[in-house]
Formats: sequence, C-alpha cells, structure tokens
Amino acid sequence: MRTAGGGDVGHPPDDPPPGVAQPVLWRLAMRLYRDHGGVVRDARGVLACSLCRQPWPCRGRRLAQLGLAEAWLPPRGQQRRSMRRDR
Ligand SMILES: [Zn+2]
Repeated sequence: MRTAGGGDVGHPPDDPPPGVAQPVLWRLAMRLYRDHGGVVRDARGVLACSLCRQPWPCRGRRLAQLGLAEAWLPPRGQQRRSMRRDR
C-alpha cells in the first residue's frame, strides 16, 4: 500500500537521482526500501513492518535508508585513493 500524494517529500525515486555516486547501491537499497515499506498494527496496536513483522521501522527499512544515504558517497576504496591523490 502506498501513501497517495500530499507532499511526500521524503519518498526517494526508483532511479538514482543525478549526483548519486553508487547507482547500483541506490537500486538495491530502493528494492529493500519498497519491500519493507508497508506498515501494519500488530495485535497490541504496535506499528510493525508488513513483510518481516518487526517493530517499525524494521531492520530492513533502516538498512535501506542507510544504503540510500551511502549511495551518495563515492565507494570507500575510491575515497581513500582520491585522498592520496590530493597530496
Ligand atoms: Zn521489514
């Protein structure tokens, strides 16, 4: 189930936006983000992920958000290499 319209500013696009340094990581993270994107209430009324049933936000959702943030940064190996090149 998706939330329809209404200024959903925090909703990332499927395709990596310009400036994303790791597009493959972005796509993987988006897949995870969507898979763990449904929220349900358990028997006690606590919000939980509709896929894995962990308390919301579940580990899959949080990992996806980390991946989306990380995708903006150059791969770690390249960060080190470019730092050496600056000297
Ligand atoms: Zn989940």
